[in-house]
Parts: sequence; C-alpha cells; structure tokens
Amino acid sequence: MRARVARDRARGAASRGRGTHDREPRSGVRQADVFPRWSGLCCYCDRPAEHLDHVTPISRGGADTLSNVVPACAPCNYAKGALTLAEWASTF
Ligand SMILES: [Zn+2]
Repeated sequence: MRARVARDRARGAASRGRGTHDREPRSGVRQADVFPRWSGLCCYCDRPAEHLDHVTPISRGGADTLSNVVPACAPCNYAKGALTLAEWASTF
C-alpha cells in the first residue's frame, strides 16, 4: 500500500517535468556540463568535440559522473570504443 502511494507520487512528478526536458539524455552527465570545461574541444586530439566519452567505459565499471566523462571528437570516440585509456594508448 505504502509502496503504491510512492509510485504514484513519482509518476506525478515525472509528468510535471515533461515538456521542458523532453529530450533529456539517459546519461546523467550532459554535454552542457562537460564541454565548457574543455573549451568544446576533444580532450584527446583538440579537434572540436561532438561526443561525450567515458574515460573508463560504463561497460568496464566506469561511473557516469563528471569526473569520468570528457568531450571527444567522433573519430577518437569510435577509435577508443570500450577500451580503457591505458588500453587505447597501447594501440598507438
Ligand atoms: Zn579527438
């Protein structure tokens, strides 16, 4: 009973928020939070960044937090993929 009330309350809050953030990404970290810290440049090669990269990939246990997310250009992001920074560096 108690749990059901909590669920209904949560649903109400979610629908109130709709309309202002209808395209909010699933990630908790947003480009708007990360890009200004790096002047909008890829942290690996200094070209304009287009993506967010998890330094330690989520699939490898990395956190979805500002300290683990950096801006990256598409070529760097695709090249790094699900490698850790050390693994990717060893391919150079
Ligand atoms: Zn790059």
